[in-house]
Amino acid sequence: MSTRREFLGGIAATGGLMLLPEALGLSSLAAFEGEGGGAPSQYELPPLPYAYDALEPYIDAQTMKIHHDLHHKGYTDGLNKALATLAVARDGGDFAGVGPVSRALAFHAGGYFNHNVFWNNMAPAGKGGGGKPDGKLSADINRDFGGFDKFTAHFSAAAASVEGNGWGVLAYHPALKRLMIFTMMNQQMQTPIGSIPLLMCDVWEHAYYLKYQNRRADYIKAWWNVVNWKNVSERYYAAMAQA
Ligand code: MN
Repeated sequence: MSTRREFLGGIAATGGLMLLPEALGLSSLAAFEGEGGGAPSQYELPPLPYAYDALEPYIDAQTMKIHHDLHHKGYTDGLNKALATLAVARDGGDFAGVGPVSRALAFHAGGYFNHNVFWNNMAPAGKGGGGKPDGKLSADINRDFGGFDKFTAHFSAAAASVEGNGWGVLAYHPALKRLMIFTMMNQQMQTPIGSIPLLMCDVWEHAYYLKYQNRRADYIKAWWNVVNWKNVSERYYAAMAQA
């Protein structure tokens, strides 16, 4: 049901909106990172950093294709549509719809950003995916969670506990000066403000249902085999640097 709604929403959102970053010579990544001076005028769906089947057998190619090409595209279009709608409202001085559009902005901005983190948090098993973190990330996981095994048990249980759609998240909180695990509802809710996500596990049914059906815990267990700890470490250093 959510697939259809987001897919149709994605089609509707493309009407009249041009993809300017390409025309300006900006890569999708540059547009995402905001390089070259501020926000892009349109957000683009970044390409997957690997082939659809690269995470087999843990995450199947069909799931990856639908998840990226339709779901993530839908969030990207929804983000652009919300921003454009708000611009029209400001130009016209008509804020009658500002409440629902503000909620849509939070939802789609979350969906756009979360999946950018998620794809890059993963790599093919044995080729960057799996294993354990090292260096400061490993040391601070031990400090804040009492060891890697306790961390993974906590994270897995938290992700499995999400009611309906959402995410398991490992984040660094600069003000609290610690790593923390939390669960996010939908794409944005009950997120500690100020926290910077390092590792995100998508537990929306669209992330695993084709292969795992209702066995979310099995999906989460398999997912650890494709976690790209080098990427998570890089995010940790970047989060500390911007704190
Ligand atoms: Mn998703």
